[in-house]
Amino acid sequence: MNDTTWKGDALCAQTDPEVHFPEAGGTSRNAKRTCMACPVRPNCLDYAVDTEQYWGVWGGLGQDELRRLIRARRAETTAA
Ligand code: SF4
Repeated sequence: MNDTTWKGDALCAQTDPEVHFPEAGGTSRNAKRTCMACPVRPNCLDYAVDTEQYWGVWGGLGQDELRRLIRARRAETTAA
């Protein structure tokens, strides 16, 4: 769950980190575009959901999308 070795291959580590943490009202389009070309996107998305990252773009998803996914994961876990 907390394995972060994939971060060594993160494409966003080679770009401006602020792109992945846009100000309120800012666009996440460029960050998502970077994510779609990133070789560790599945690992990143799993990590973001497992560790409940609510801020920024992770694994190609923006904050609202991440919140929905985290909420759905919690509901699944509670129902199991
Ligand atoms: S998927 Fe996006 S946020 Fe995650 S490591 Fe890759 S570029 Fe960074």
